[in-house]
Amino acid sequence: MFHEQGWIMKRAALSPERIALIDIHADVRWSYKELQNRIIRWASFFRGKGYRKGDRIAVYSPNKPELFAVLFACEQMGLIYVPLNWRMSRPELQALLEDCTPVLVLFDNSFEESIQGLNVAESISLSIIQSLMMQDNWSFVVDAVRTDPWMIIYTGGTTGMPKGVMLSYEAVNWNALNTILSWGLSEEDTTVNYMPLFHTGGLNALSIPLLMAGGSVAVGHQFDPEEALKVTNKYEATISLFVPTMYQMMIQTECFRQSSFPSMKVFLSGGAPCPATVYRSFREKGLRFKEGYGLTEAGPNNFFIRPEDSARKIGSVGKSMLFNEIQVLDENGDACRKGEIGELLVKGPHVFSGYWNKPRETSEAVQDGWLRTGDLAKVDEDGDTFIVGRKKDMIITGGENVYPQEVEQCLINYSGIREAAVVGMADEKWGEIVVAFVVAADEDLNNDAVIAHCRASLATYKIPKKIVVLDELPKTHVGKIDSGYLCKMLI
Ligand code: ATP
Repeated sequence: MFHEQGWIMKRAALSPERIALIDIHADVRWSYKELQNRIIRWASFFRGKGYRKGDRIAVYSPNKPELFAVLFACEQMGLIYVPLNWRMSRPELQALLEDCTPVLVLFDNSFEESIQGLNVAESISLSIIQSLMMQDNWSFVVDAVRTDPWMIIYTGGTTGMPKGVMLSYEAVNWNALNTILSWGLSEEDTTVNYMPLFHTGGLNALSIPLLMAGGSVAVGHQFDPEEALKVTNKYEATISLFVPTMYQMMIQTECFRQSSFPSMKVFLSGGAPCPATVYRSFREKGLRFKEGYGLTEAGPNNFFIRPEDSARKIGSVGKSMLFNEIQVLDENGDACRKGEIGELLVKGPHVFSGYWNKPRETSEAVQDGWLRTGDLAKVDEDGDTFIVGRKKDMIITGGENVYPQEVEQCLINYSGIREAAVVGMADEKWGEIVVAFVVAADEDLNNDAVIAHCRASLATYKIPKKIVVLDELPKTHVGKIDSGYLCKMLI
């Protein structure tokens, strides 16, 4: 037993009137005291239902502050919180539900129709909170230990079926501590969060660490680039995290051009490689911008870089966080030399406890306590890390290794290209050839000019042998480019 109260309750006792959460769309603010009251009501409700430690509570809802109340109530009761990706199709969602078998699905009223088609043990509207009574005696002592799972977060599914990542109290809290220490979060900080709360980027990357630090999280859904920036100014946000696709949309807006974002200390990007054009747009305005790397299985946060170093080393994610070890290994399992590319491995108390129902995948992913990220990285002379791409995305053409990310960056730097994705296609002569899918910025994209642009900065074997122009690139449920789908288009 370790958390008679849990840190969120201590935060509420420490600074009850401070703002914990803001509902952007309703413009409603919850103090830590209000959050605490809601946690108690939910926890009492769960107790009344007779749920036991380890039971799964799924939530099926767009981003809203109530989800945090449910999350922390689960912590109080030793229940496992499972946020569902509402962008999934019904069969996909049904497969997830069959995987995690929740005792209850709490749904937002706007999803009432879709929930009816799903086969679940029990489903109740989140608005039931309004009828739940406040309890005077709210000591919920459960027999939970640090290593028990607190949440199951399904991965983005970029490389196949989403996997349920089990994160223990310990893992979530160490990730939060690492993040607070490395990014310097405090109760003076406010973030605007439009990243989906069913994904680690919305939940663990910044929101939970900031609540642990006593700061404020403004929660928005239905991302609109102009609105997200206006809201940043309205709530005087100091730090925010968006994925590169969101930033690419933001830099096109009027608000971005007009505002100097006086309250913002730093804009963070993560989840996928960030194009250099985005960095430049922020730097030209004198704004601080930096890139983070993470994955659901490891916190997600693993690195930190000071914004000033980030400006010097575009694309670097910096050095590993305090309570976290990393190594980069070659194909033989030996440590790579400086600058050499190999697989990134991560170890620390923030790493997950395994994939739900998937012991084989778990033992493949974690060996001797080291998580094999499946990502390729290199570390430079100063000890700064660069993420080079996913191991399984690497293209081998004529015996040479090509990292799609490098070619994509080069393509995006061409003014006529808005988005780019590079994949390998089987080829009799070369083994594989480099194929680029691009979205043109204007009507007539000249392929010869694109090749000439690539030739100026890339080795010949890296230059795409085929360029396919699309109206838009296919994306996964969390907004990442779906390279698996692109590969299928080539078959
Ligand atoms: P799945 O594991 O189901 O295939 P996924 O890999 O997208 O999906 P997530 O945990 O959502 O699962 O995302 C983590 C991955 O995102 C990392 O392993 C890495 O490939 C990529 N990523 C995250 N941040 C960066 C970054 N800054 N640069 C490059 N890639 C990144």
